[in-house]
Amino acid sequence: MVKLTELDHLPDGLLERPASALHRSLNGPTLIHLEGRNKQPLFVTVLQHGNEDTGWEAIRRLLKSHYEFDQLPRSLSILIANTRAAKHRLRRLDDQLDYNRCWPGGQHEDSEPGKLFQQITDRIRSMSPVASIDIHNNTGLNPHYAAINRVRPEFLRLASIFSSKVVLFTTPLGTQSMAFSKFCPSTTLECGQAGEIHGTDHSIGFLETCMHTNDLATTPLDADEVHLFHMVATVRVRDDVLIGFGNVPTEVAFRKDLDSLNFHELPAGISFADINGGPPVPLCATDIDGNDVTNHYFRFDRGRIETRREIMPSMLTLDRRIIHQDCLCYLMERIHFEDHVEGTDHDPLPEAMRRSDRPGEPSV
Ligand SMILES: [Zn+2]
Repeated sequence: MVKLTELDHLPDGLLERPASALHRSLNGPTLIHLEGRNKQPLFVTVLQHGNEDTGWEAIRRLLKSHYEFDQLPRSLSILIANTRAAKHRLRRLDDQLDYNRCWPGGQHEDSEPGKLFQQITDRIRSMSPVASIDIHNNTGLNPHYAAINRVRPEFLRLASIFSSKVVLFTTPLGTQSMAFSKFCPSTTLECGQAGEIHGTDHSIGFLETCMHTNDLATTPLDADEVHLFHMVATVRVRDDVLIGFGNVPTEVAFRKDLDSLNFHELPAGISFADINGGPPVPLCATDIDGNDVTNHYFRFDRGRIETRREIMPSMLTLDRRIIHQDCLCYLMERIHFEDHVEGTDHDPLPEAMRRSDRPGEPSV
């Protein structure tokens, strides 16, 4: 039974506890409201995934170092979500749903966490938050980036405070940022791998800026202030292909710095791998409708896997297990958001980006 606990203060000693010890003070998901000078709160969600502790580390350092003996510049409402999974340093426990699929608008609204998150959404909505921030980590060598669910100036501005590279996603459904995007600017922060100090530093800087921001202007941004991308294809290695990294005689020998290409816009002609044997087309790229688009993005006729057009990969990994079980990477394309900002005469989102069954999803 998941029950919401709501507090108007920090329990004694809470800021001394790492994520894995929060369960000693908090009996499940807990909403904490701290009053500041500006009463319109910033809403921050941490630990939806129990092993992704950057958000909690940022909140506790922010509160310890800056605000323990001073009043907050703005009220802060913090949801500390999956303390049970955090105890075990796991994304979720086997008997739990993924919390970040259980928010209003998803397929788990009738679940225990779904009902709880509906209550939290209603509660925070009634407080007219200035913005909603959900903090996560991911795996592999990916830069920090912010993700949004709606192309609106205030969403783009909020995300751009964290990173100039912003990812638009419309699935999976039931995410926190998607639910809150219905009534306030919201973003998901991907802060690199858990435990990295610069991820915490970056998050603290972002939160401090949000605490001091009086409003997120709805005036349009200049095109060079934000680089907006969306996912266009998922790339897999064929099951029957033997792969390796570096100068090895496997059928496909990927470059050993493959993951350093993540989030770089690559021109045509960049090599991912040498082809030493095996099938002539060792990869399979599929678009959002499941169509094979391999030859649209790659060429294989020069003894290498090469990009055929400008593209930005993400989630490239050197982990063979992930490559075979999940995928090699996602391909992202730039969106000229000026053409898609809501409230203009233009179609707000291309048809392809509105679909709910896209195979490629960010790991939010
Ligand atoms: Zn996460």
